[in-house]
Amino acid sequence: MSETDKTIHDFDFKLICEYYAGMERQGPGSPDVTLRALSFVDNLTGESRIADLGCGTGGQTMVLAGHAPGRITGIDLFADFIDIFNAASRKLNLQDRVSGMVGSMDKLPFRDEELDLIWSEGAIYNIGFERGLNEWRRFLKKGGFIAVSEASWFTEERPAEIDEFWKDAYPEIDTISNKVGQMQKAGYIPVAAFILPESCWTENFYVPQVPLQQEFLRKHAGNKMAGDLVENQRHEAELYYKYKDFYGYAFYIGKKI
Ligand code: SAH
Repeated sequence: MSETDKTIHDFDFKLICEYYAGMERQGPGSPDVTLRALSFVDNLTGESRIADLGCGTGGQTMVLAGHAPGRITGIDLFADFIDIFNAASRKLNLQDRVSGMVGSMDKLPFRDEELDLIWSEGAIYNIGFERGLNEWRRFLKKGGFIAVSEASWFTEERPAEIDEFWKDAYPEIDTISNKVGQMQKAGYIPVAAFILPESCWTENFYVPQVPLQQEFLRKHAGNKMAGDLVENQRHEAELYYKYKDFYGYAFYIGKKI
C-alpha cells in the first residue's frame, strides 16, 4: 500500500468512527434483545469470564454487565470506541469488572478454555460467521456459551436487488436453518435462535442516524468521502425498509460440547 493510500485509508477509518461514535449502538440491537439472548445462558457466577468481541462503544456490554455476574472484557479494533466504552464503564461504576481493550477478533488475547461466555452482537461478520465460531471455540470452557447476532435470510428466495446487495456486502449471509447447522458443525449445541424485532433496525438504528447524518454533513461540508458515507448509509436504510420481510438479524446461542 502506498503512503497516499494509507492516508486515505486512515481518513476513511476516522470518518467511519466519528460517524458511529455518536450512536449508542453501532449495529441493530436493543437492551431487550440482549437480555433475551442472555436468558439462554446458564451457570454464570461472580468468577465467570466473559468476552464481548467487536464491542463498539459498549451499548450492549453495559446492559450485559447489569444482568450478568463475572468479569467482562470488550474488544474492538477502533481505539476511539474503546475510549467511549471505558468512560461508560467508569460512569456506571463498573470499571472493576468491565473493561475495554483495543484488539482484533482474529488474534484474541485469551488462553484456551478461559472463557465462560463469548458475546458478539453485529460484529462476527468481520471475521465471518463460520470462521468466528470455529476459531473462538477453543477459548471457551466446555459447557461455555457463545451468543452472536448475524445477518440472516428469512426465506429461501428473495428479490434480485437485495440478493445482489448482500452477496456483495457479506456473501456469508444465509438462512437461519443453515446458520444453525453451521453452529452445530462447529461443535456447539444450538441452544436457541431468534429474529431481532424490526425496531432494532428502525427506531434503534436507522432513525437515530437521520439527525446525526445532517450534523455530520454540515461538519464535513464539501468532503466527498463524508458525503459518500452518508449516501451509503441512506441506501442501506432504504433497502431495509423495502426488503425487511426477506432479511434481518438473528441471534444464535450455542453451548460448547
Ligand atoms: N457490538 C456493537 C458494535 C457492532 S458494529 C453493537 O452491537 O453495537 C461492529 C464492530 O466491530 C465495530 O465496532 C468495529 O469497530 C468492530 N470490528 C471490526 N473489525 C474488527 C476486528 N477485526 N476485531 C475486533 N473488532 C472489529
